[in-house]
Amino acid sequence: APVRETDVREGLDNTLIILHNKLKKGVTVVREYEEDLPRIQAFASELNQVWTNIVDNAVDAMQGEGRIVVRAFHRDPWVVVQIENDGPVIPREVRSQIFDPFFTTKGPGEGTGLGLNISRSIVVQKHHGEIDVTSRPGQTCFEVRLPVDYTPP
Ligand code: ADP
Ligand code: MG
Repeated sequence: APVRETDVREGLDNTLIILHNKLKKGVTVVREYEEDLPRIQAFASELNQVWTNIVDNAVDAMQGEGRIVVRAFHRDPWVVVQIENDGPVIPREVRSQIFDPFFTTKGPGEGTGLGLNISRSIVVQKHHGEIDVTSRPGQTCFEVRLPVDYTPP
């Protein structure tokens, strides 16, 4: 899929629609989108894979019960996306490996451990962005920062 002018809010909304069945049971989703969000040049469908994986992981971590906050805002030079959940704190030793290929705490057949590794490649290599996670009681947050002024080749 080619690079195109992308409104990340649309990709986030699509992700929430695609995951609706998984979310509907016990997850409250709150969207906090800045109104004048710059569009970025991006591989939109690949970014959708990133959002899908982060939200999917969040629901797993909360065991289907809790609250997810999705934010998108402009903080120069970035468009910032935050996906936060109120599941359990990620222990430090898990956090340090979370982006490693094949690292998973899920059972056999439940997780490949590739989701966040691929997400990081998409963000960092394909879009010259950054991704990180912070976790404290009641608040685990994945933050993706995408440069406003980069056009992928
Ligand atoms: P997978 O989902 O296949 O396990 P990922 O790369 O998507 O692989 O995630 C790796 C691991 O990171 C998960 O197994 C889980 O331990 C941890 N993780 C990811 N997101 C969260 C989250 N929101 N809360 C707690 N742990 C998480
Ligand atoms: Mg995953």
